Amino acid sequence: MKTITTGKVKTVYDAGEGKAIIEFRDDITAGDGAKKEAKEGKGSINAEISARLLRFLEEKGVKTHLKEFVRPNKFLVTKVEIIPVEVILRNIATGSLVRRFPFEKGSELNPPIVEFGYKNDDYHDPMLNNDIALALGLCTRDDLTVMRRLALKVNDLLKEFFFERGILLVDFKLEFGKTSDGEIILADEISPDTCRFWDSETREVMDKDRFRKDMGSVIEFYSEVRRRVLS
Ligand code: 5GP
Repeated sequence: MKTITTGKVKTVYDAGEGKAIIEFRDDITAGDGAKKEAKEGKGSINAEISARLLRFLEEKGVKTHLKEFVRPNKFLVTKVEIIPVEVILRNIATGSLVRRFPFEKGSELNPPIVEFGYKNDDYHDPMLNNDIALALGLCTRDDLTVMRRLALKVNDLLKEFFFERGILLVDFKLEFGKTSDGEIILADEISPDTCRFWDSETREVMDKDRFRKDMGSVIEFYSEVRRRVLS
């Protein structure tokens, strides 16, 4: 199969007939790829978590690119043109938000914050406003409105899904793509690589921050997220 793109942790292959195969590799990166390792099993853990979450969202009426989870670490997906805008949802202040603004770390954000970022490692995914996104030709004004609405719906659904499993959905990043018909659907993955998860009782970190901050036990915590997501 022809490779379409090789990303930092996933490879995308052309499967023909408007479909693609996404392979979740064991690589894990931080700091726009400056820090990189391979963790055995990470690819299949993230694929399984993402498959469960994307299926859950489909059941609740959110259209996604996932057609079939090909165990252990591949997705057959609808081929889409990825919109180069990362949509970030925040329910609790932490991470880059508290580095850039005077929010108290760990405080609840109600209503949640929706942030757009320019998906571009060379520029370190800077925050966008609508005018910059439009001036750069990244998408249309309507696309921004649709992505914001869908991201808030995903947040409502996932916050409850995780709460029932003893996990606080702190924040996460979504990517959307356009189908050949011009419809915007949810793409990429939803996993401990793209979300912050804290244990509801202990507030223990269960996501990629363990790798970013050298906290150890990365695979152990990713596996625990998988166990709870599949329960
Ligand atoms: P922050 O802006 O605080 O660094 O990240 C907010 C949330 O979005 C976190 O859950 C983080 O994992 C996710 N996120 C933001 N940018 C990226 C990115 O480029 N790649 C991945 N995998 N996640 C991101």
